[in-house]
Amino acid sequence: MTYKLACPGCGERVSRQRAFLYPRLNDSCRACGTKFRVGTAGWIASLMVVTLDVLCYEACQKHLISRYLGIALVLLTCVAATWLLPYFAPVVRTSKATQ
Ligand SMILES: [Zn+2]
Repeated sequence: MTYKLACPGCGERVSRQRAFLYPRLNDSCRACGTKFRVGTAGWIASLMVVTLDVLCYEACQKHLISRYLGIALVLLTCVAATWLLPYFAPVVRTSKATQ
């Protein structure tokens, strides 16, 4: 799988820590200054993760699954999203390098 969460100008990867702990709508590359944002496919993938978490919560509320299974499924989807979303979230260049 190709790591798609990278600068479209120079190809430098955006770390998972930076992407998930400090999310921004528009980001700029630290190496070359190119500005970019996550594309539509990345937003759709992120919304799918949120939808899965909401479905787990609703299943717990309706006693379809146990509370512990619901917590485990939410944690599992969050870990899987952190690991997999950079492979399914291509970026779109919004402006050229400023440096
Ligand atoms: Zn760059």
